Amino acid sequence: MNVYDSDRMTDALVKDGYISTDVMEDADLVLLNTCHIREKAAEKVYSALGRLRDLKKKKAGEGRQMMIGVAGCVAQAEGDEILRRAPAVDLVIGPQTYHRLPEALKRVRRGERVLETDYAIEDKFEHLPAPDKAKTRARGVTAFLTVQEGCDKFCTFCVVPYTRGSEVSRPVAQILAEAGKLVEAGVREITLLGQNVNAWHGLGGDGAEWGLGELLHALARIEGLARLRYTTSHPRDMDETLIAAHRDLPQLMPYLHLPIQSGSNRILKAMNRRHTTAEYIALITRIKAARPDIAMSGDFIVGFPGETDEDFEDTMRLVETVGYAQAFSFKYSTRPGTPGADLGDQVPEEVKAKRLERLQEFLLSQQRAFAQACIGREIDLLLEKPGRMPGQLIGRSPWLQSVNVDAKASQIGDIIKVRITGAGPNSLFAETIS
Ligand code: SAH
Ligand code: SF4
Repeated sequence: MNVYDSDRMTDALVKDGYISTDVMEDADLVLLNTCHIREKAAEKVYSALGRLRDLKKKKAGEGRQMMIGVAGCVAQAEGDEILRRAPAVDLVIGPQTYHRLPEALKRVRRGERVLETDYAIEDKFEHLPAPDKAKTRARGVTAFLTVQEGCDKFCTFCVVPYTRGSEVSRPVAQILAEAGKLVEAGVREITLLGQNVNAWHGLGGDGAEWGLGELLHALARIEGLARLRYTTSHPRDMDETLIAAHRDLPQLMPYLHLPIQSGSNRILKAMNRRHTTAEYIALITRIKAARPDIAMSGDFIVGFPGETDEDFEDTMRLVETVGYAQAFSFKYSTRPGTPGADLGDQVPEEVKAKRLERLQEFLLSQQRAFAQACIGREIDLLLEKPGRMPGQLIGRSPWLQSVNVDAKASQIGDIIKVRITGAGPNSLFAETIS
C-alpha cells in the first residue's frame, strides 16, 4: 500500500511542477513514506533522517534548499516526536491527509513546519487527482489500486487500526473509474489493495450491496484488463460470492494471500483473530474446491507473548497441512499502544530467533517444492519488463512467480503461453510454445 500511496503522492504533485528523481542529491524535496508495523521498520526512519539532515546541511552550504517530509504510518503515530527528534524535518503527513500534500508543501516553502495528521473528514480519494497517464505508463503493465483502508479487527499485536484508522471502503464508481484510467494507460493486471481487502463492501451499480466478489465481477468486465488479484484478506471475510469468483472469473489469478499468523488456537485467541485453525483449514478446502489450482500464501508471527514450544510446533504442523507457495514470517514486535504490549510473558529474543529460523527454513522448502512442481507445466505468462540478459523478458506466472523467457521488448504487456523449464532460487525459466 505504501507503493501505491507513494505513486499517488507523486501524481498529486505533478501539477505543481514536481518531477521524480532517483538521485537523492538532486531532490528539492525528499519524502520518506514510512511503515510502523514493526519496531525495526519504524527505527529505520530515524537513521534515514540522520543521513538526510547531513545532506540538507551540505546543500544549504551550496545555496540550495532541500525540504524533508515524513509520510506514512510512522508520521501518523509519532508525528510530534519526529518534529522534536529531527529538527531538519519540514513536514509530517499521515496517510489519511495525502490530498493536502500540495498545500502543505506551499506552507513549508513559506517557512512553516507542518504537521498534518488529523484524520480528514473529507474523502481523500475524492480530492486526490486520478493516476497520471504518463507516469502510469512508465510504471509498467501491473498496478495497485487501493479499494479499502483501515481496520476494525483489532488483533492484539497490530497497530493498523490506530495508524490507518477504522475501516473505509471506496465507492464502486470511483474504483471502476480509476481502474479504467489504469487500463487506458496500458495496465493489464490490477492488484486491489486493502488492510482487509475482502471486508470491502459498497453500493453496486444495480442498487444492491456488493462485496469484493461482486466488485471483481464488475472489474473483470473492463476490456483490456487481463488479470486481477487482491491482498490482504482476513479469513473471517472470505464470503461465498468471493470464493465463487475464484471459480467463475478467469481473470482472477489462482493465488491467495490469506494470513493466519499462528497455528495454535490458544495463541489465535490471545491475538483476537476470532477463528480457529480448523476453520481456516476448512475455508482453504472450500476455496480449493472452487479453484483447484489455487496457491496459498500467508503471514506468520512467532513469539507472541505466552507462545510455548508446543504452540510453535502447532504452527509448524499447520504449515505442513496447508502447504504454502509463499509466506512471510516475522518475530513478534511489541507495538506501543496495542493490547499485546501490556501482556506479560514476553518470549525471549533468542527463542523468537530460533523459532523464526526453523519456520522460515520450512516455508522456503515449501516454496522451492512448489516451484519445482511447476517445471514442465504450460502456463500463461504476463510479460512485464526487460530481463537481465539482452533478448530476455521477465514475466509473472498466475502464481506470482517471476519467470525469465526469451522475448522481444515490444511484447511487454502481452500474455503468452510458455512451458516452465527450470527453477532458480528466486525465479523460474521458461520457453515459449508456438
Ligand atoms: N490485515 C492483514 C495483515 C496486515 S499487517 C491480516 O489481518 O492478516 C501485515 C503483517 O505484518 C501481518 O500479517 C503480520 O504477520 C505482521 N505483523 C503485524 N503486526 C506485527 C507485530 N506487532 N509484530 C510482528 N509482525 C507483525
Ligand atoms: Fe492488523 Fe490485519 Fe488484524 Fe487488522 S486484521 S488488526 S490489519 S492484523
